[in-house]
Amino acid sequence: MVNEKRKKVVVIGAGPVGIAAAAHLKTRGVEPVVIEKGDGAGRAIKEWSHVRLFTPWELMVDHVVVELLEKNGWQMPDLKSLPHGKDVVEKYLEPAVTLPELKNHFIFSAEVTAVSKAGLSKSSSKDREEAQFVVHYKSTDKKHHILEVDGVVDASGTWSNPNPIGLDGLHVPGELDNSDHISYGIPDTLGKEREVYEGKKTLVIGGGHSAINVVLDLLRLKQDNPDTRVIWGLRNNNIDKLLGGGLNDALPARLELGNAANKAMNDGSLALLAPFQVKTLDKVGNRIIVDALKEGEDLNFEVDRIVVTAGFRPDMNILRELRLDIDDVVEAPRLLAPLIDPNEHTCGSVRAHGVNELTHIDKGFYIVGMKSYGRAPTFLMKTGYAQVDSIVEEITGVKSSIENACSSGGSVQEALSSCCPPRTNEISDTCLSENETCGSENATPETSPNCSNSKSAEAVASQCCGASETLDERKLAKADSINQSHETPKVSSCC
Ligand SMILES: Cc1cc2nc3c(=O)[nH]c(=O)nc-3n(C[C@H](O)[C@H](O)[C@H](O)COP(=O)(O)OP(=O)(O)OC[C@H]3O[C@@H](n4cnc5c(N)ncnc54)[C@H](O)[C@@H]3O)c2cc1C
Repeated sequence: MVNEKRKKVVVIGAGPVGIAAAAHLKTRGVEPVVIEKGDGAGRAIKEWSHVRLFTPWELMVDHVVVELLEKNGWQMPDLKSLPHGKDVVEKYLEPAVTLPELKNHFIFSAEVTAVSKAGLSKSSSKDREEAQFVVHYKSTDKKHHILEVDGVVDASGTWSNPNPIGLDGLHVPGELDNSDHISYGIPDTLGKEREVYEGKKTLVIGGGHSAINVVLDLLRLKQDNPDTRVIWGLRNNNIDKLLGGGLNDALPARLELGNAANKAMNDGSLALLAPFQVKTLDKVGNRIIVDALKEGEDLNFEVDRIVVTAGFRPDMNILRELRLDIDDVVEAPRLLAPLIDPNEHTCGSVRAHGVNELTHIDKGFYIVGMKSYGRAPTFLMKTGYAQVDSIVEEITGVKSSIENACSSGGSVQEALSSCCPPRTNEISDTCLSENETCGSENATPETSPNCSNSKSAEAVASQCCGASETLDERKLAKADSINQSHETPKVSSCC
C-alpha cells in the first residue's frame, strides 16, 4: 500500500489563533508550518503586555492546545482570573510553541510577504483549483524563501495596521511628519514608557475600551506627578453609550473600566472633547499644535504627545494574488461581514460561524482570528478557536472532538464561556457594550436600538441619574480654556 503524502498547510502568525490552528492541524494529521515575523510566540500581544484582558483565562485558551499542554505537565491558571497580555504570552503561548508535538513546526523571525498559486497569477484560471499555494517569506538575514503547500491559514491579526487619525480613514496633514510624537495602540505609560508621558500633556484619540485604558493609566500617572495632563478626544459623540455599555457589560472587567472613566470625568480630572475631529498637526519647538474641530467649532491647542487608539484594519497586500471573497465595507470574508458590520451589529450579535463563512474563491485558503473580522473591532479569542476548529475539519476531513456549543444557544454567560458571543436575542436584554472591544469607535447611537427599550437602558439611566441627560448637559470643558490655562478643564458630574 502506498502511503499518502501528508498534507502541509502554512499558518501565518503565531498569535493565539495561529498557534491553535497549528495544534488542531497537527492533532488531525496535517503538517502545519507556522511562519511568525516576531522572534517568538504572541509577539503582537507582547506589545500590549501591560494591559489586563477583559475576559478570564477560561475564554482565553483553546481546548486542543490545553490538552497538549496538560499532557506535558502544564497547569491551567485560575480559570476565573483576568490575565495581563504578558501572562497570556508567558504562561500559555510560549509554553505551547515549545511542546514536543509542536516545536518543530514554527519558523520565527520570518515575515510572509506574499501568497499566491504556484505558477498562476490572480488572473490565470487554467487548472487553478489543483495548483498548490506558494508562500513567500523573508527571514531576518533578508533571504527570500518560497514554500509550496496544500493550504494557507492567515492568522496574522491586525495589530501592525492601526487606523490613522483622520475620520475619513486617512492620515491628517502633519500626522506622518510628526510620527515621533504619536503612538498608536496602548503605550505602557506606567511602565517602560513612563518618562515619555510623565509631567506631559497628552491627547488621547479614540472611543473604545483601549482608549479608556490609556486614559486611566495617564490619570494614575497624574496622581504621581500633577503636571501630567490628559485630554480625551472622541471622534464620535459616543461617550454615553460607551460608558452606558460598560455599566451593563456582561464582561465585568470592561464594566470596571467604564465606571472608572466615568468617575474621572465626574471628578474633573479628565478633559473630554466630543465630537472631536483633528484637521491638521503641526510642530512648534518640541510640541504639537493640534488644529481641530470640537462640536463643529475651531479649536487649537498644544500637546506633547498624541496617543491614537482608533482601531485596526487588515493588511490585504500579502494576499493580492489570491482570489478572495471579501466584503468591501468591513474587509472581512463576505458571508461573515454582515454578522459583524459595526454599522449594523453589536458586539454580542455574532452567531456561531465557521468554514461556510470563511471560504474564499481560492479553496484551501482561510483568514481566521482578529484579521477575519477585518475592520470590525469586536473579535474575541474564543471565536477564533471555534473558527479554527471548523476550518481544520474541512482541511483534514477529521471531525472536532468537541461539539460546537454555539448551536445550542443558552444564556449570555453560557454563550460567552462556550465558543461564541451571545445570540442576537440576548443583546436586547443585556445591552452589551458595542464595538469598543479593542480600541475602535465605530459605534453610533443608531447601532444600539436594542438598548433603548430594555431594562438595561433603565439601569443605565438610574446609575447616571436621568435617562435624558446628554453629553452636552455634562458641561464639557470649554474649548478655549484648554489653550489659555494649563489646568485640565473640568467636566461637571453627571449626577
Ligand atoms: C489591547 C487588546 C486587548 C484585547 N483583549 C481581549 C480580551 O480580553 N479577550 C479576547 O478574547 N480578545 C481580546 N482582544 C482581541 C483579540 O483576541 C486579540 O487581539 C488576539 O491577540 C487576536 O489573536 P490573533 O492570533 O488573531 O492575532 P494576533 O495576536 O495579532 O497575532 C498575529 C500574529 O501574526 C504575526 N504576523 C503579522 N503579520 C505577519 C506576517 N506577514 N508574517 C508573519 N507573521 C505575521 C504577528 O507578529 C502576530 O504574532 C484584545 C485585543 C487588543 C488589541
